[in-house]
Amino acid sequence: MNYYAEPIARLINELSKLPGIGNKTAQRLAFFIVNMSNEEALDLAKAIEGAKEGIGYCSICGNLTDIDPCSICASPKRDNTAICVVKDPRDVVAMEKMQEYKGLYHVLHGTISPMHGIGPDDIRIKELLDRLKDGKIKEVILATNPDVEGEATAMYISRLIKPLGIRTTRIAHGIPVGGDLEYADQITLQKAFEGRRDI
Ligand SMILES: [Zn+2]
Repeated sequence: MNYYAEPIARLINELSKLPGIGNKTAQRLAFFIVNMSNEEALDLAKAIEGAKEGIGYCSICGNLTDIDPCSICASPKRDNTAICVVKDPRDVVAMEKMQEYKGLYHVLHGTISPMHGIGPDDIRIKELLDRLKDGKIKEVILATNPDVEGEATAMYISRLIKPLGIRTTRIAHGIPVGGDLEYADQITLQKAFEGRRDI
């Protein structure tokens, strides 16, 4: 038996696909949306559409952006002698919130994980090496998560970069082992960043 009119059932179904949204929450949100004014509900739908249509990846660093190159890569205020390597775009947000780092980024879009069949060629390592060719970069900061995959990825990249004579550093373990850069609080991340060491 179907408890809901089809359009509401469909809305609940779509909402329940979102992370952290169970069926109950999806129902609550669906009823909230249905009770919104037409204008408010349309604004929500348009915001979703706009975010999907207007957002892509920066052709240089791989971060999410609505302009290419992204505002960080294009900014003359950033230190273009340093690149901070992270797993995904959410980590860029975490680093930027810290307000300590003024260099550039490189988003790998994953980490090496033999268990999941993800090898070095499946993430943006080649693109990173291409960015180091012109000799402008003096330091590469490896800020992948301090879990097994993040460490393995950092080690792999450092081995490729060291022969190029570029300083290679790894953020400190202020972040608990197995922790997630994205969820580290600002102070912890700042300490991890300041305490980075050469590898
Ligand atoms: Zn960029």
